[in-house]
Amino acid sequence: YADIAMYRAKKSGRNQICYFEEEMQAQFLQRYQIEANLIGAVERNEFVLHYQPIFETATKNIIGFEALIRWSFQNKLHFPDSFISIAECSHAIIDIGRWVITQAIYQLSIWNLRNGKTFTISINLSSIQLADKTLVSFIKNMIEKYHVPANLIEFELTETALLDNSKQAVGVLESLSDLGCQIALDDFGSGFSSVSHLQNFPIDTVKIDKSLILASEQPKARALVAGLSAMLHSLELDIVAEGIENKQSLAFCQQLNIQRAQGYYFSQPLTAECIEKTYL
Ligand code: C2E
Ligand code: MG
Ligand code: MG
Ligand code: MG
Repeated sequence: YADIAMYRAKKSGRNQICYFEEEMQAQFLQRYQIEANLIGAVERNEFVLHYQPIFETATKNIIGFEALIRWSFQNKLHFPDSFISIAECSHAIIDIGRWVITQAIYQLSIWNLRNGKTFTISINLSSIQLADKTLVSFIKNMIEKYHVPANLIEFELTETALLDNSKQAVGVLESLSDLGCQIALDDFGSGFSSVSHLQNFPIDTVKIDKSLILASEQPKARALVAGLSAMLHSLELDIVAEGIENKQSLAFCQQLNIQRAQGYYFSQPLTAECIEKTYL
């Protein structure tokens, strides 16, 4: 990006270079502010989880929720793409991640107890968390503290998270599986997806990335989704389609026997309060 911006700036003259430098400075400052303000943000109670319902494709019954973090900072609600990677660099993700795990398991325990339901909760984990030697015992403690059956908890990891330190990652995922938790591979088909991950990691579920589902009116994307889901079915993996925004993509997933679906067609991620009003 910097190269392209510099090239454009040079092409259009001296003033543009000054503008470019100012822009770089502003970005640097913004990043610095985020990094600095993430320190202690858990203690200041600045994070909140939104929950996106996940549906059984065949029946359109709600079966669970994905917990998605938001950060209220400078009077705005910030989305994870603007701060999670910074939190990973500074390792603030360890404390944030523990807060997410605690809050999500606590919330599920309340919802299931109150309603006699067995909803599932899906929790995103970052690669930095996988490197934390105390992660598994922390999760075990939370499961025991809130009396949530471990098989109702699903941890979502992206392929890059698994590749960052694969040896360690396999061990952690195996321990989480041993606890009874479910493991999902997130954003499958978005990057350099390799089929070998499905063989080398103890994975129960694969989430097909929304970029493929969103493109599924195009023949190539349709063929990809169909081929992927056939392969995943033959590996006896559970499949979730993310990014279901309309009837057509839901119908397509039903046709392919994709078990679960998630997306704006069903619901946006909602506050706990909205979930209670709408679904409980
Ligand atoms: P993800 O885990 O793949 O989550 C799905 C993202 O897609 C969410 O964005 C969700 O709001 C969005 N989405 C859901 N349905 C639709 C749809 O129909 N159309 C479109 N266009 N988008 C849809 P969000 O909440 O901004 O989260 C972005 C990413 O941030 C997540 O992607 C996940 O990788 C990461 N993330 C979120 N919460 C956490 C967390 O607690 N810990 C960690 N480590 N990462 C998190
Ligand atoms: Mg996810
Ligand atoms: Mg995803
Ligand atoms: Mg994603």
